[in-house]
Amino acid sequence: MHPTHKMCHGRTRRRRSHHALRAAKPAVCPNCGSAKQPHAACPNCGYVRPGLSLKTSEEE
Ligand SMILES: [Zn+2]
Repeated sequence: MHPTHKMCHGRTRRRRSHHALRAAKPAVCPNCGSAKQPHAACPNCGYVRPGLSLKTSEEE
């Protein structure tokens, strides 16, 4: 890389000021109340949405 293309520390740090990751927003299952990933089936009861649930729908 050519020396004139070097970026100063301040500019590098300003760019990297946007690189931090944010914690995933927790969602609460309306069926059993346990924490779950948003837009995913509940790991506890398998609830997805009204009329659809996974892994517990077999034992109706
Ligand atoms: Zn649940």
